[in-house]
Amino acid sequence: MNKYLKTTLGRKLLAFYLAMFAITFYLISTFGHQYISDRVYSESADNLRSVGITLLGTHINQQRYTKTTILSFQDQLKMAAEAAECRILIICNDGDIIIDTTGKKTGYNVYLGEASFLHDEYVKNTTLNGLLETESIVISLPMEQNAYLNGYLVMTQSASYVKNRVTYYSNILTTFYYLIMAIVGFVFLLIYIFNVRPLRKLRNGAKDFSINHENPPILIKSNDEYGELARTLNVIGEELSKFDDYQRKFISNISHDFRSPLTNIQGYVQAMKDGIIPVDNQKKYLDIILYETERLTKLTSNLIDVNNYDRDNILLDPENFDIHEAIRKTCDSLEGTADRKQIKLETLFCQQEPLLVFADHAKILQVLHNLIDNAIKFSNPDSAVCISTRTKGEKVFISVKDSGIGIPKDDLGLIWDRFYKTDLSRGKDKLGSGLGLSISKEIINAHRQTINVVSTVGVGSEFVFTLSRAQ
Ligand code: ADP
Repeated sequence: MNKYLKTTLGRKLLAFYLAMFAITFYLISTFGHQYISDRVYSESADNLRSVGITLLGTHINQQRYTKTTILSFQDQLKMAAEAAECRILIICNDGDIIIDTTGKKTGYNVYLGEASFLHDEYVKNTTLNGLLETESIVISLPMEQNAYLNGYLVMTQSASYVKNRVTYYSNILTTFYYLIMAIVGFVFLLIYIFNVRPLRKLRNGAKDFSINHENPPILIKSNDEYGELARTLNVIGEELSKFDDYQRKFISNISHDFRSPLTNIQGYVQAMKDGIIPVDNQKKYLDIILYETERLTKLTSNLIDVNNYDRDNILLDPENFDIHEAIRKTCDSLEGTADRKQIKLETLFCQQEPLLVFADHAKILQVLHNLIDNAIKFSNPDSAVCISTRTKGEKVFISVKDSGIGIPKDDLGLIWDRFYKTDLSRGKDKLGSGLGLSISKEIINAHRQTINVVSTVGVGSEFVFTLSRAQ
């Protein structure tokens, strides 16, 4: 897709903000200002009306004014007009303007022009047909309750005065609007900085991840979800870059482990065929060939296991069984191997009675076999391997402890990897493929249990794994 047409979160945010700005600006500048104008006009009219009603109620209607005596009220009306910033007219029924607080139209007869405004309570933006110099709002109140003088009290206020107030409030509204939009814009900017930028970094970083190449880490140091995601992706990136390395090592390990027994077998069979090995000596070499084929068989079955377990779900077939019985059975099967090295297999069970666990019987036998077999392999002759059990709550702990060569500290985390063998152990064991512990760990993990090791070089090792008790 064209780079410039591609929508990004940043652009979406900007578009959203601009659209919001445009829509609210339109609403404010039409409905908002109209609303203010309506409110200010009706407020001004209400003010004029209330001044008029007060004048009628407290003065004009209380006194028995006539056309002439009302002139004594003129000064008070002028003061009232000044205070209310308006112009006050008193117009008789015959149309004569008796009082005009500005003095400009006193004596003028409104019936000379258009005088229908006298009957309209409120007229907006009018010059009353030229009677007023500027456009104004006009309130007309009849003086009906006055016994001697009937007419109208007319109050006018210049429209420009009202418009100035409309502009004043509109400016306040606009200023507030810009202020709020600036705050909203700032919030959008923060959203962009704290969300879109790290997301973009994650996307760019992860996009460049590839198998076999150095994957540079995504640098997000924050402790929030983005930081966590970056750290997870960095781990994946690291694994990916090691992937080829891992595959190459895997193949070279397998080829190496297959080649040496095959070379031996080929060599001895060829020698026998060529008659180099005398018939009397052949049994010894046939034994070696048998030993090498055993090695190949064991390696192949381990590889099949690893391959099966690799498809992440080990299919377990759990059942209740006695773990003590399983340990005894494994010890019996390894007794011959242990005897050859004068190693004693001791058991120390937490109870005499059977200890029932809920697990895959065959697979746990395989784990026990791997651990006890290792313990024998890496023990010094004339020593003991102790297999013990203990319980804690719903868990059973099974320990396989030897006093053998031990595992160097740096190797403790690596022995669970496929094909890993410590340098220390190579002299003691040539048959092992380095797959046993990784298979055991996968089996225990599949049971959602744990397996750990404590070891000291020259002192010995103890492997402990857990199982859940039968309910
Ligand atoms: P292997 O078939 O080679 O024994 P494992 O996966 O069972 O493979 O073990 C991996 C490596 O861990 C061994 O080669 C050895 O170096 C080390 N190891 C395992 N068990 C012990 C032990 N009891 N004592 C010392 N080293 C051990």
